[in-house]
Amino acid sequence: MNKRMFLKTSSAIAGGALLSGLASCTSDEQTKKEHLKNWAGNLQYSTANVHYPATIEEVQDIVKKYKKLKALGSRHSFNTIADSDANQVSFEKMNRVLSLDAAANTVTIESGVKYGELAPYIHEKGYAVHNLASLPHITIAGAIATATHGSGINNGNLSTAVSAIEFINAAGDIITLSKKKDGEQFNGAVVALGALGVVTKLTLDLQPAFDMKQVVYRNLPMKELENNFNTIMSSGYSVSFFTDWKNKNINEVWIKSKVESNDTAAAPELFGAKLATQNMHPIETESAENCTEQMGVAGPWYERMPHFKMGFKPSAGKELQSEYFVPIEHAYEAMMAMEKLHEKITPHLFISEIRTVSADDLWMSPCYKKTCVALHTTWKQETDAVMKLLPLIEEQLAPFNVKPHWAKLFAIAPSVLQSRHERLNDFKQLVNEYDAGGKFRNEFLQRNIHGK
Ligand SMILES: Cc1cc2nc3c(=O)[nH]c(=O)nc-3n(C[C@H](O)[C@H](O)[C@H](O)COP(=O)(O)OP(=O)(O)OC[C@H]3O[C@@H](n4cnc5c(N)ncnc54)[C@H](O)[C@@H]3O)c2cc1C
Repeated sequence: MNKRMFLKTSSAIAGGALLSGLASCTSDEQTKKEHLKNWAGNLQYSTANVHYPATIEEVQDIVKKYKKLKALGSRHSFNTIADSDANQVSFEKMNRVLSLDAAANTVTIESGVKYGELAPYIHEKGYAVHNLASLPHITIAGAIATATHGSGINNGNLSTAVSAIEFINAAGDIITLSKKKDGEQFNGAVVALGALGVVTKLTLDLQPAFDMKQVVYRNLPMKELENNFNTIMSSGYSVSFFTDWKNKNINEVWIKSKVESNDTAAAPELFGAKLATQNMHPIETESAENCTEQMGVAGPWYERMPHFKMGFKPSAGKELQSEYFVPIEHAYEAMMAMEKLHEKITPHLFISEIRTVSADDLWMSPCYKKTCVALHTTWKQETDAVMKLLPLIEEQLAPFNVKPHWAKLFAIAPSVLQSRHERLNDFKQLVNEYDAGGKFRNEFLQRNIHGK
């Protein structure tokens, strides 16, 4: 869509009108007694008190009423970051798109909205967001709280699209911060790990909608990455490598590109890797039925950027995940350091994925001021074995000042983790400003942010 079309379409909905709900609520009651589990089923939350407010006033009442509580998204995190032994607040009933501002190119949503719900809606109006994670099933509030990312050497994580945030602090007050007005405070409040309050509204920057296509290449020798890592990672808008760490081989290279008017067919080879002739799943033995369309077929951005289709099971299902961020200049060295453990890793592995995330200004982002390579692993759900392996991987990656993904499994000692987040003390001050009494502090935050 050209710029004129974009403006014409979007001007029709300017003005911040309340738009209709996207998904039906699943609960009629405000509080339910149930111990929820996370998506992967590796974790049952510690409380049975789950609140389902439908309005901001109800959220404020809940925050004022309880001494301890934790906001809950779509429960896709693998560790205890969203856990509470007292109360959880779900935003399932607060899932409306509130307004689309054509002049500012932004959309404002309630915090229960998922990317998979927002994307077709904004696409239809002529808009896109700059990137998506591997799956569209997650809430935007949950994703941006943990610096969730997709790939692309020039693409910041999903939190970088936030231009304003509204949350309820521990006193029950409504706090609004924006990128334009609140500068550094705002940079501290987006990747907030649920520590500042419960987010009720988010405004995201939009861009004109675009079409994309994706192709997959199979069997790229890892040694090609020694000199060509950035070149290959730049061969599309968003590029992912999948490896099982066997034979120093990248099993699949997924290249997602914007459709251009002068496009030519994909080359049959990429640094020795061969163009796939059928749709692939990242785990080669799984059916590609759940995966977004490949083979260069053009389609809307939101049906190509995630690997998995909305409405279908993403990834392997019964699994665990870990992910480590290393500055991009150490990408090949870090991969080789991890490769040294291949004999120990592969028995417990579904697949590893290697992506890039560009630098940002968000205090608690693992990519704060540094473009990074992200070394992700989807593990079989063998918790004991995986938790024994993670310290070995972390030791291999320690020379590169590695930081873990906030929402996945890791074993790094709190003091080491804290020393690697250079704005940690500023963040703790911000937490103190909005939640001095620790209402939103759970065991995960106590250990990793405030612990010794
Ligand atoms: C199959 C699968 C694929 C994944 N792929 C990717 C990927 O491609 N890239 C990536 O980076 N990550 C990925 N993840 C991890 C995922 O993006 C994160 O776990 C993300 O945080 C999940 O969002 P959620 O809505 O499920 O949040 P939850 O897991 O429910 O919560 C996460 C955190 O957000 C906080 N939170 C949620 N809602 C609010 C709110 N309204 N106010 C304040 N705090 C809130 C919670 O308190 C908690 O601290 C994947 C996970 C799975 C299961």
